[in-house]
Amino acid sequence: HLAPKSDIEISQAAKMRKIVDVARDKLGIAEEHVQPYGHYKGKISLDYIASLEGKPDGKLILVTAITPTPAGEGKTTTTVGLTDGLNHIGKKALCCLREPSLGPCFGVKGGAAGGGYAQVVPMEDINLHFTGDFHAIGAANNLLAALIDNHVYWGNSLALDTRRISWRRVVDMNDRALRSIVSSLGGVSNGFSREDGFDITVASEVMAIFCLASDFADLQKRLGNIVVGQTREKKNIRASELKAAGSMAALLKDAIAPNLVQTLENNPAIIHGGPFANIAHGCNSVIATKSALKLADYVVTEAGFGADLGAEKFFDIKCRKAGLKPDLTVIVATIRALKMHGGVAKEDLKAENLEALEKGFSNLKRHIGNVKKFGVPLLVTVNKFSSDTEAEMALLQKLCGAEGVECVVADNWGSGGAGAADLARAAVKTIEAQPSQFKPLYADELPLAEKVRTVAKELYGASDISFDSSIKARFAELEKEGFGNLPVCIAKTQYSFSTDPNAKGAPSGFVIPIRELRLSAGAEFVVVVCGDIMTMPGLPKTPAANSIEVGTDGRIAGLF
Ligand code: ADP
Ligand code: MG
Repeated sequence: HLAPKSDIEISQAAKMRKIVDVARDKLGIAEEHVQPYGHYKGKISLDYIASLEGKPDGKLILVTAITPTPAGEGKTTTTVGLTDGLNHIGKKALCCLREPSLGPCFGVKGGAAGGGYAQVVPMEDINLHFTGDFHAIGAANNLLAALIDNHVYWGNSLALDTRRISWRRVVDMNDRALRSIVSSLGGVSNGFSREDGFDITVASEVMAIFCLASDFADLQKRLGNIVVGQTREKKNIRASELKAAGSMAALLKDAIAPNLVQTLENNPAIIHGGPFANIAHGCNSVIATKSALKLADYVVTEAGFGADLGAEKFFDIKCRKAGLKPDLTVIVATIRALKMHGGVAKEDLKAENLEALEKGFSNLKRHIGNVKKFGVPLLVTVNKFSSDTEAEMALLQKLCGAEGVECVVADNWGSGGAGAADLARAAVKTIEAQPSQFKPLYADELPLAEKVRTVAKELYGASDISFDSSIKARFAELEKEGFGNLPVCIAKTQYSFSTDPNAKGAPSGFVIPIRELRLSAGAEFVVVVCGDIMTMPGLPKTPAANSIEVGTDGRIAGLF
């Protein structure tokens, strides 16, 4: 038995095709409509995509998961595997993924380009600078920051209260030293010193705007709508008042076109945009998804974290706002993770444990019930690990069957598209047999606090939400300012339905406390912070950066 290859070894052994060839042969895109970034990455021209407007849309498949555990679930692996699986059974399929953030690549070991034999390539490029989109997004964000302080420096005619500037600078690095800083130190010519701070680029509102914009005009409009801070009288000041939107958009002109790469099996994959899934909505760009729907018959996409956060935001924010109608949801579960939800420690996961599996099924069961509330047909897939036993798989299939849901075992990781062929067939069959009745969970008109309460009670299993008088006043202020019809973007731990990361399975009867409300007026949602939310991660004691190197052959080693 050979030692299993690492993700990077498998990806570096890939036989990649030139991206213009993949675009032509798999998607019918002529070479002139692909702007190559090297041989294996390219941007699809927005003019070309606009020319496809009359074409019918393909079917949209969302891949989401049970509540994450340290045992790992494999959403990206499944998204890529299912795409290869659909192509394997003769369908024209394309996946849409998020671009990975640079920072975490150097922190805790772990990829964002899939795993095993279900990966997108060139993996090092995708994980590092890729086509430069995130650098452009960071630059646009920081241009606005510079314009704000410059405005104050030259007399502050808008009367911005420098204590109430909410716009922060960003960098795509895990750098805790920058979380809270004092800027403009050093004397009169450097401006007015004030408390400031950095977020990681993927946590920025520009990233969320980039991913929700329907086209370039909408992008500029949303950038102008950003609220950067307030006056002493608490009047909102917008980026448009600083005349910032045009130049920010100029910096994003190339970035806004979707990036095309390929899977290990030379099937097309679009990777574009990458907002956080807590303080933002956690899925790739609307422009990418809509383009993909014109280019393929099946589009497989992923939402971050578990279905309570990722799928909810995909449905209630992205699909609602972009007018997308998902046709199928695939919930990824692993036997190992379900056993962890049933109380098994990470060290003991290899041993068969039917009792813990049945107990931990409570977590999957709640996610199944939740997804049904959105009216989208669903499948469960088991991402197969080598330690899974026949009896465990059979039990899980029986438990899902009792919920009226088909559960398909897939070995994307071990055998790529061939390993996902059953899942692909089940996806096609379900889409054909069950038309989607998609609807968001709550109406636009519902007051903001009621929207949060609805999600907390209906999806999380909470008995209620709680907030103090200052939050109550902020809710009222937002409603009065005309933001009451926006969807809410709830930021809470991804490790539990509750706000206690240790509460595994399907806890209920808890209260969700709201700590803070943050307006993302350009992204068009209100962030509801329920817990400690990290917008600038740090590096661990032994960061992955310590073991990454470039070999004499010019290849990167140690990256995952
Ligand atoms: P997610 O998208 O849910 O965060 P990923 O698909 O990125 O998860 O997978 C996380 C890690 O787990 C990857 O390094 C991948 O190689 C590994 N992994 C995924 N599926 C399997 C599997 N079936 N067996 C072993 N490792 C797996
Ligand atoms: Mg992922």
